[in-house]
Amino acid sequence: MNDYIKSLKTQGKLNISIDKTKKFDWEYTKIAGPCSVEGKDIVDIAQKIKSLGANAFRAGAYKPCTYPILKETNGWQEGLRREGLNLLRIVKNTTDMPIVTEVMDARMIDEVGEIADVFQIGTRNFQNYTLLDELGKTNKPILLKRGTWGTIDEILGACERILVGGNDNIAICLRGVVGMPSYRHVFPTIRWAPDLMMIPALKELTNIPIIYDPSHSTGYRNFVQPISKAAMAVGADGLIIECHPEPDNSISDPAQAINYDTLNEIFNG
Ligand code: PEP
Ligand code: MN
Repeated sequence: MNDYIKSLKTQGKLNISIDKTKKFDWEYTKIAGPCSVEGKDIVDIAQKIKSLGANAFRAGAYKPCTYPILKETNGWQEGLRREGLNLLRIVKNTTDMPIVTEVMDARMIDEVGEIADVFQIGTRNFQNYTLLDELGKTNKPILLKRGTWGTIDEILGACERILVGGNDNIAICLRGVVGMPSYRHVFPTIRWAPDLMMIPALKELTNIPIIYDPSHSTGYRNFVQPISKAAMAVGADGLIIECHPEPDNSISDPAQAINYDTLNEIFNG
């Protein structure tokens, strides 16, 4: 066991073995799908994405946006919400793919849990301890997205919070961190810095699988493929990628969405 983990344990900060054996279900996890559930064509999209090698489907029904988007603005209130979950149920029944979707609030665990096979905790909720505690009591796999500010201790601490609840079926998702002002005048959609070094760093400390998100990390579709390769090369256990049939027309996160051809190259190239 790593000395740092040992010292945390000695101080009583880690009670559960953060270095425990890997439990997350998929060996090389290939999760893909659009940022949001946008409408009925989600079923065709999911079928196509499955045919390209994805072994789980992602799409948000509840989408926390940086600024609140009211329904009156464009008819879309940060996701299709319950209707989005209903569409994901059809996707699940039609494609047989596990569904990865975000649960934004502890009060929504039952509702989202009816459809989700994997609960996604979004970056904004990385340290929402009520949510982490409640998800710790469930027995579904959890994809914990790192907060854009998250230090290595905060990542381990958030995992521990879920583990002590009794749920050890978790994976950490790295999705970029604050600090990219040097790029923005040239690549205005880049918001986060891909922190690839956190992959080997966490691998020294824990067996919890690391899923890399090259879409939010880069914010720019041309960088999704190279950063995917880099993440796998430095030890990621899988990827979660935003893909859309018409990337520029994505309702949310259009600049980082890739098309089917690029997804095919990443998964099968
Ligand atoms: C997402 O996966 O679409 C998402 C909202 O990601 P994050 O929470 O990392 O911003
Ligand atoms: Mn997104």
